Amino acid sequence: MNLQLKRNTKTTIIAKLRLVSLVALLTSVSIASFGWGRTGHHTIVDIAQNYVSNSTLDSISKYLANDTWHAASTWMDELRGNSQYNYMQKWHYINVDKGQAYSPTIENGDNVVTQLDSAIFNLKNRRNLTPEQVKLNLKVLFHLMGDLHNPLHVGYGSDRGGNDVRVVFNGKSFSLHRIWDTEIIETNQLFEENISSKLKETKKRELKRIAKGNATTWFIDGRNALPTVYTLSSDTITTDYLEQGHPVAENLLFLAGVRLGFTLNDIFRKY
Ligand SMILES: [Zn+2]
Repeated sequence: MNLQLKRNTKTTIIAKLRLVSLVALLTSVSIASFGWGRTGHHTIVDIAQNYVSNSTLDSISKYLANDTWHAASTWMDELRGNSQYNYMQKWHYINVDKGQAYSPTIENGDNVVTQLDSAIFNLKNRRNLTPEQVKLNLKVLFHLMGDLHNPLHVGYGSDRGGNDVRVVFNGKSFSLHRIWDTEIIETNQLFEENISSKLKETKKRELKRIAKGNATTWFIDGRNALPTVYTLSSDTITTDYLEQGHPVAENLLFLAGVRLGFTLNDIFRKY
């Protein structure tokens, strides 16, 4: 695990984000489309590391053992085809149609909101868990905090979170879902700079306000982004559309990172 990040200078954070972007860009062709792509999930845990205490870092390091924070954040996306974890297939998202209220019983609780809260609850009560179970719940927490903040993972069932909406981008056909998983970040030239400004400029009082609540209240931020996501003037993704989407995606990634960091401190404060 990279224990250094928290103590790093902002310059190193920028360099690190740049490297992550570059790696993701080079591998984006093979990134599967079911969550923020790697860049999104990695960025969220990088942001979170800035807000966790050294003792929290040490506790997490003990449970993750040889896994890095980056690897932990994308583990759930690498389970496809592994029948042992079929029970997690629906945990990445929730479908709530326009005008419908959120309910924890959607899909009998097999949804991103209920499962994120459940992972946090399990980790706070980890006296009842084996170290392996703690590690599993950490990986679920790392990943689902990201997915909860992706608007098309908390979208409408009528088009399966944008999976049924076909759009043309750079002459190729994509689902709108895919655009918001990866392209919205990969096409954002100011991404690293804007994220690092948020890291520098957001005051403690604001951070505390952001971190308050639980998955049920955090879910609203992704939902509120849906009008922007669906502002399509045609079936072509334009520069204007991407420019409107970039700050929305940046903000959601930042909220997810802050919430993950503060939640981890909350979980590991005791013991
Ligand atoms: Zn996912």
